[in-house]
Amino acid sequence: MKNLFIGSFVDTPQLGKLRIVNDQALLVDEQGNIAGAIDVDEAVSLSDNPQIQTFRVPTGSFLIPTFCDLHLHAPQYLYLGTGLHLPLMEWLNEYAFKAEEKIDDDPEGLGHRVYSSLANRLIRSGTGAALLFGTICEESNLVLAETFQSAGLRGFIGKLSMDKSSRPTYVEASSDASLSAAERFIHRCRDIVKALPANKQFVEPVLTPRFVPTCSDELLSGLGRLASKHGVKIQSHLAEARDQVNWVKLERGVDDIDVFDRSSLLTSRTVQAHCTFLDPSSLVVLHEKGTAIAHCPLSNVYFSSQPFRLREALDLGVNVGLGSDVAGGYTADIMNAMRQAVIASRIRESYRSENEQEIQRTQPLEGSSSQSTNQSTTLAVHWTEALYLATKGGAEALGLSSGSFIPGAAFDAQQISLIDNMSGKGIGQLDFFEPVTNITEDLIEKWWCLGNEQNRTGVWVQGCKLL
Ligand SMILES: [Zn+2]
Repeated sequence: MKNLFIGSFVDTPQLGKLRIVNDQALLVDEQGNIAGAIDVDEAVSLSDNPQIQTFRVPTGSFLIPTFCDLHLHAPQYLYLGTGLHLPLMEWLNEYAFKAEEKIDDDPEGLGHRVYSSLANRLIRSGTGAALLFGTICEESNLVLAETFQSAGLRGFIGKLSMDKSSRPTYVEASSDASLSAAERFIHRCRDIVKALPANKQFVEPVLTPRFVPTCSDELLSGLGRLASKHGVKIQSHLAEARDQVNWVKLERGVDDIDVFDRSSLLTSRTVQAHCTFLDPSSLVVLHEKGTAIAHCPLSNVYFSSQPFRLREALDLGVNVGLGSDVAGGYTADIMNAMRQAVIASRIRESYRSENEQEIQRTQPLEGSSSQSTNQSTTLAVHWTEALYLATKGGAEALGLSSGSFIPGAAFDAQQISLIDNMSGKGIGQLDFFEPVTNITEDLIEKWWCLGNEQNRTGVWVQGCKLL
C-alpha cells in the first residue's frame, strides 16, 4: 500500500537552510521511500484510489524528518540521570562498567527490559535512528539488535571491543578473543535481518573499540582489518577529556587520532564521538578521511572541560551530527542536544568576542590583523543549523538516505502538532495569541525552543508508523 501525506513539511536539505512547504503532498511508495512531491489538487484526486492510504496532517501541525542520535550507550540507560559528579575515568569505573556488566549477566531479563524501554523512549523523542554502544557480551548485543529490529527503529549496534580495563571482571580475555567475538557478532547481527527485504532491515553491526585506553594496538589494528574485510561501520570516542587525552599520550607517546589512523580506523564509515580536544589541523584530517563526528554538547560540559569546536568543524566541511551520549548526557532527547549545541556555541562566541576586544584594547595592531582571516565571523551556531545536525547531518554520518524530504529518500518522519484543533489552544508549553494556520519560521523556532514530547503526534520509520 502506498501512503499519501497531505499538509505542511519542514526540513533542512543543507546546513542552515530551512525549507517550509505548506499545502503540499508527498507520495510514499510500498517500500516506504518517498516517490515524490505532488500538488494538493492532484493528491485529492489520488485520495480516492483504494491502493493509496491518505494521511492528512492537521492544521497547526507539520511533518519533519526524525532525529538521528549518533552516540548513545544503550546499557547506560539503566542508570540515566545519576552519577554525574565524577571525572570521566572515575565515572567509568564507578558507574559505566558496573552497569554494563550487570546487563551482560542477564541479557534476556534486565538487558531486554532496559533496551525495550530505551527503544520506546527514543520513538517518543522522535529519534528514528541511533548509533549505539552496547556491552562486551555478544548475547546482550544480539538482544539489543533484536529489540530495535522488532521496534522498527534503525539501530547501529556496537558490540564493545576492549581487551584492557580497570575492572578485572569486565574485559575481554585477549586481543585475539576480542577480535573473534567482534567478527562472530558481525555475522550473527547480520543473520537477524538477512532473510528480510532491504527496506525491512533496521539493524546492522558496528565495530566499536571503546576508546584507545581500553584497547591494545593489536586489537585496534585487527579491528581496522575486520572493518575493511566486512565493510562495516566503525565508532569510538576520540579526544574527549583531558585525563583521557593525557593517558593516551603518556602511554602511547602519540595522540589518539594518530593511534586510530595508524590502525586504519579513520574511514568514511567511521563516526567518532566528542573530538573536543581536536585542533583545526586534526579536524582537517577527519574531513580528508570522511570521518564524521558525533557532537554531544551536554556530556562535554560534564566530562570534557572544554567545548567542541563546532563552528570550525562545520566551516571545514566535516560531517557532524548530534549525540545524546546517554548516560554521560542525562537525556536521550535530541531536542535538548540541539539547544545545548547552540548554547555551547554562543558561550564560545562570547569568550571569543570578549578576548578580541581585550586584544584590541591592549594590542591594536594584532587585533586589526586578526580580522583578515576567512573564518566565520562568529563561533555561534544558528538553531536551523542545529536542526540540520539533528536530522540531515546525522543521516549522512550514518549513510542513510533519510534526513530530508527528497525523492528516493526513506520516509523517516515525525509529526509535530502545535495546537489542539478541538480547543484551538497550544499544546504543551506552547501558547499562541494569534490563529495558527500556515506553518512559518517563527512557529518552528518556537517549537524548537519550547517543544516537548506532547507536541509529537506521529513517528514513521521507512514509511511504517511507530507512534
Ligand atoms: Zn560515549
